Amino acid sequence: MNLPLSPDRLWDRLMELAEIGPIPGGGNNRQALSALDGQARTLLKRWGEEIGLAVTTDRLGNMALRREGRDPTRKPILVGSHLDTQPTGGKFDGPYGVLAGLEILHALHESGTLTEAPIIVVNWTGEEGSRFSPSLIGCAGAMGILTEADVLDRRANDDGERYGDALKATGWDGTAEPTLLAGAAAYFEAHIEQGPVLEREGYDVGIVTGGFATERALVTVTGETSHAGTTPMEMRRDALLATAEMMMAAEAILYRVAPDGRMTVCRFMVDPGADGVVPGEVRFSFDYRHPSNATLNQLLSEADAAFAAIALRRKVSVIREPYWTFRAVVFDQGLAESLRAAADRHGARHLDMLSGAGHDAYHAAARMPAVMLFIPCHGGVSHHPSESISREWSEKGLRVLADAVIATANSRE
Ligand SMILES: [Zn+2]
Repeated sequence: MNLPLSPDRLWDRLMELAEIGPIPGGGNNRQALSALDGQARTLLKRWGEEIGLAVTTDRLGNMALRREGRDPTRKPILVGSHLDTQPTGGKFDGPYGVLAGLEILHALHESGTLTEAPIIVVNWTGEEGSRFSPSLIGCAGAMGILTEADVLDRRANDDGERYGDALKATGWDGTAEPTLLAGAAAYFEAHIEQGPVLEREGYDVGIVTGGFATERALVTVTGETSHAGTTPMEMRRDALLATAEMMMAAEAILYRVAPDGRMTVCRFMVDPGADGVVPGEVRFSFDYRHPSNATLNQLLSEADAAFAAIALRRKVSVIREPYWTFRAVVFDQGLAESLRAAADRHGARHLDMLSGAGHDAYHAAARMPAVMLFIPCHGGVSHHPSESISREWSEKGLRVLADAVIATANSRE
């Protein structure tokens, strides 16, 4: 099929969307359920209605832009991502997947082509989790991972505003049933890689076959605050030195057990954090990620044992409280194969890979066949104003995605 896709229109829309909530350095601050998020939604709705799409919003704010198919009995194919950004976000993380989906429907509209199954472009609410935790919250509600009431009652991390109230204030508190989308036939999500592999190795697209299992926890190490000059070393219960040892132990465990995994300490808080005072308490966020659930469990149990031994020797206490956990995700092999075949047809060099980051597709995969397509981004930089992609990468990704989505809409029951 020779679909009149317009890579320029996709690019121009990415740039126009980025005018909503610009920040220095070329990025965006367009956090979920802010007034700016509302403006971005209005723009998406206008673009959808211009090509005759039926735009609905569910009670969690998830937007669906639907184009009917020839066969009214067929379940729809979903293609989407998110328009919200981190406070220091870029132009492409999220919007690329939504607007690439929109461009597919635009080209179908212009050419008067009907697919067998309906196709729905989705904009999930609150993917980033920067103001309302957890991340992927809108999709989690739609897929029944979280209940509707639980999502609506979540409180903002900064001022405690209720999700439901913030949604209402944007005017995007819709009436559609959130779990309707869980009954779709398939889910496609195109996204920038947010890592350096595709660019470094010269690939045009990544076929994402699954995602890492992840467990992030808050670790609290409690010792005793004392005077840095008068307290002899052997009498101290220094929470910070114990923490330093724990972090190095956790890294050593990773290299020994599973060097293909990931270990990160993202946040680190020292109490009291004053000159002249031996730190009495340290809290740090700590995560392991690995493609295998079993290996992740092994890493965590070894870390717990090492932390306990260090705590005992240094006369401090330690607790590790998980707050962000994902089991390993395996995407649909048939959909991955449709992306590979599409990449081959377009002469796009493709690499099978796993996602190290969390994505809405993880939750969708719990309810339907799902898959992701990555395009490269410069230097692997993301969640930063300088996040960037080339027009060529954007175009290749669009063509591959369109081929696979349309093939699926025409073939899959
Ligand atoms: Zn994203």
